[in-house]
Amino acid sequence: MGHKYVYLFTEGNAKMRELLGGKGANLAEMSVIGLPVPQGFTVTTEACTKYYEDGKKINDEIRAEIDEYVVKMEEINGKKFGDMENPLLVSVRSGARASMPGMMDTILNLGLNEDVVRTIAAKSGNPRWAWDCYRRFIQMFSDVVMEVEKRTFEDLIDKMKKEKGVTFDTELDAADLERLAGQFKEAYKAAIGSEFPTDPKEQLYAAIEAVFRSWDNPRANVYRRDNDIPYSWGTAVNVMPMVFGNMGDDSGTGVAFTRDPATGEKHLMGEFLLNAQGEDVVAGIRTPMPIAKLQELMPEVYDQFVGVCSTLENHYRDMQDMEFTVENRKLYMLQTRNGKRTAQAALKIACDLVDEGMINEKEAVLMIEPRNLDSLLHPTFDAAALKAATPIGKGLGASPGAACGKIVLSAEDAKAAVDADPKAKVILVRRETSPEDIEGMKAAQGILTVFGGMTSHAAVVARGMGTCCVSGCGDITMHEAERCFDLGGKTYREGDYISLDGSTGNIYAGQIPTVDASIAGEFGRVMAWADKYRRLQVRTNADTPRDAAKALELGAQGIGLTRTEHMFFEGDRIAAFREMICSDTVEDRVKALAKIEPMQQGDFEGIYEAMQGNPVTIRLLDPPLHEFVPTTEEDIKLLADAQGKTVAQIKDIIASLHEFNPMMGHRGCRLAVTYPEIAQMQTRAIIKAALAVNARHSDWQIVPEIMIPLVGEVKELKYVKDVVVKTADEVINEAGKDLNYKVGTMIEIPRAALTADEIAKEAEFFSFGTNDLTQMTFGFSRDDAGKFLGAYYDKKIYENDPFAKVDQVGVGKLVKMAAQLGRQTRPDIHLGVCGEHGGDPSSVEFFHQVGLDYVSCSPFRVPIARLAAAQAAIKYEEVDKKAQAQAEFRETVEAVKAGAKEAASTAAEVAGKVASVVSEVAKASAAGIKAGVDAAKKAYNDNKENK
Ligand code: ADP
Ligand code: MG
Ligand code: MG
Repeated sequence: MGHKYVYLFTEGNAKMRELLGGKGANLAEMSVIGLPVPQGFTVTTEACTKYYEDGKKINDEIRAEIDEYVVKMEEINGKKFGDMENPLLVSVRSGARASMPGMMDTILNLGLNEDVVRTIAAKSGNPRWAWDCYRRFIQMFSDVVMEVEKRTFEDLIDKMKKEKGVTFDTELDAADLERLAGQFKEAYKAAIGSEFPTDPKEQLYAAIEAVFRSWDNPRANVYRRDNDIPYSWGTAVNVMPMVFGNMGDDSGTGVAFTRDPATGEKHLMGEFLLNAQGEDVVAGIRTPMPIAKLQELMPEVYDQFVGVCSTLENHYRDMQDMEFTVENRKLYMLQTRNGKRTAQAALKIACDLVDEGMINEKEAVLMIEPRNLDSLLHPTFDAAALKAATPIGKGLGASPGAACGKIVLSAEDAKAAVDADPKAKVILVRRETSPEDIEGMKAAQGILTVFGGMTSHAAVVARGMGTCCVSGCGDITMHEAERCFDLGGKTYREGDYISLDGSTGNIYAGQIPTVDASIAGEFGRVMAWADKYRRLQVRTNADTPRDAAKALELGAQGIGLTRTEHMFFEGDRIAAFREMICSDTVEDRVKALAKIEPMQQGDFEGIYEAMQGNPVTIRLLDPPLHEFVPTTEEDIKLLADAQGKTVAQIKDIIASLHEFNPMMGHRGCRLAVTYPEIAQMQTRAIIKAALAVNARHSDWQIVPEIMIPLVGEVKELKYVKDVVVKTADEVINEAGKDLNYKVGTMIEIPRAALTADEIAKEAEFFSFGTNDLTQMTFGFSRDDAGKFLGAYYDKKIYENDPFAKVDQVGVGKLVKMAAQLGRQTRPDIHLGVCGEHGGDPSSVEFFHQVGLDYVSCSPFRVPIARLAAAQAAIKYEEVDKKAQAQAEFRETVEAVKAGAKEAASTAAEVAGKVASVVSEVAKASAAGIKAGVDAAKKAYNDNKENK
């Protein structure tokens, strides 16, 4: 037999996630530990990869193996596909390595046809159930496998319900559902042009292929990009016998969490729908009952389920998210996984599990998704304002946080609003959400739905994204056509402001002010663990004392980047700066700069003060000068008057600053090469500020780090550095004080990375500016890449935005190489990153591996970077230890070799001397023994001294 592509559940286990996918591996694990799981098989992720390799075909070998496993499954379950006595019905479910809830497709009740329905209708004595299954199957198969518009079937159901004068599907009887199935098949034929397939095997292959195909659907692609899941992983397919929650009121289906996924509280939380099948709970079609209700309705089932929950939690040592079905009072487990949770819940659960002795600190640190911390760092409602506000309505607090924005009623509108203005704040209000809405949900500040519970699509997805969500506010009446909704007797229109409290579920009219979050309690505890285990330091990018103070509060250990240019736009500085730009002579320029110097010094003092003695890196002026020139006639006139020039002259100067490619133009250190007086002024401000602040705080020793941007050649760095050093030393000498300072450079031009050994002769530190480095390495600009990256994602050329997640293969190679070259020249060179990537978890992991000293990121990303750095350190602990041992071993070998070499050369020398001793002795026999012996003695003594 060739490669194995199919596994029975009993042949697998939880460790085989890569091969069997998360769902398959956990179905296997549950089977192995003896929980009630309908027994089926998993087609591996490798089969999916093969499917794509073979040009989207399931090859004969895999087909044969699936056939074989169908027979095994039939034998195990005592049922057969298409059988008239004991027909087998199955579900065909996707399941990737990482859970991607709702992203791919599932088909239930597969194996049905007209004959089989009649058989099970008669045999079960429950024709309503049989026809319900059939119409569901036709619906799902048509939608998922054949891509017939979903709406077609929903409209037919609505029509039928209207005809019968009922509200819920459960009120339709067997005859209605039989008629519906007939209508569905006609709709299928009309759309596809052929009869609905009746052969179960044919249905099965079509369904498996559809699952493989769904790996590549647009929403799965977006989800993967957002969650760092590689396309190459593929999805597995699980085929398992159906169990039926829709057999009547002794049956039902539910989902549950072993702990509260919103707060982390340790209690069972879940929802249950009587007489329903799978998707009904999550689809938000009917609002389900809380799981506690099951205790009243079916106590023995409830007790058994509670037992299963604790077995699973203890087994996986983490909060579980489970799907289950009750068929005629018999419990079946259909899925378990480590549950998605809010950041707040994640912290609480991690701390509780440590306290319960289930996991250790390192495991707790690894358990928290760094990206999700973001939601905790964002503002919550101002308590006083919140108290004063009266809610206009209430739903379920499905995903915590405070959100405030303008109402939009469709996902497309939400996305369009944010595409048009990235700062736009919108609240997406929907009857319910579905996976197609994902992009709009991402764009929205908050999500409000009319239907659906705590486990509805909206709730689950919002929690995953850390977006505030209030679900199931049944009091809302939607009027999509009129672009508004009614709530509490009032009408709210598109564009009106509303505010949502995702913790309480309260909905407010208008805007409620928000306050910043703080890191305390469990957050503080987990961050302290993270700090204990990380090696990388975390600094921040901050241009103002306010940002710096915020970052310090969030745990920043210094500033990795202060951009000085932002300061020039404030107040009357811009006027002085423009004068500087338009100066004809060096003298005029110096005069204009002199006006700015005290202001810059003040800014730097503010930043040093805010950082309380922690290291601060300040970058000299970087952007092209034309960014500062006036654009309005009025401003141009003002500048002309101030300079005693004509408007035309000023316009000429502005025109002369025009560049075809400003990002690669007259900027960075090139400005300091052409106008050294700018660098001189900035250096003076940096040094004077440090002297002043050190004088005020005897316990601080500020060591300013002056960073020269956009260097590509060591000589240009040396030129600017000489200017900086000369100026700095003058200021220090004048002050008659001691002050240490460092001069370093950004590594952001590929040439700098390639010649980093040379650059390091002048630079005391490197800071990788990975934004520009990415731009220049890829040769496309961050501002324009959005226009074509979409096509690159579609065509699988790139999977991620290289500006968000560092490109380890190319840009990463340059970073690694430059770090090595830099250290060769200057072993104690300080290495950091100040690009956007410093706050991206997977990039932080890479920078840890490369061995940098720190990452620097925006203030709100600091905790994320701290956690990511700790996770990297823990993950690579063993690897790092090995690498260190190897390095030590290599050092020892080198030392031994060097020692041996030295010994050898000494031996040779001794031999030489001995030879000379011998020859002296020989001479002595001729020239007299005594003299010879003296000479020999002397030669011997010389030799001894030489040693
Ligand atoms: P998702 O990943 O979207 O949750 P699933 O494959 O888990 O998709 O299935 C969708 C729904 O169908 C779930 O509620 C699940 O419990 C239910 N389901 C799947 N397989 C079966 C089965 N064999 N019997 C009964 N219900 C099933
Ligand atoms: Mg599921
Ligand atoms: Mg740059």
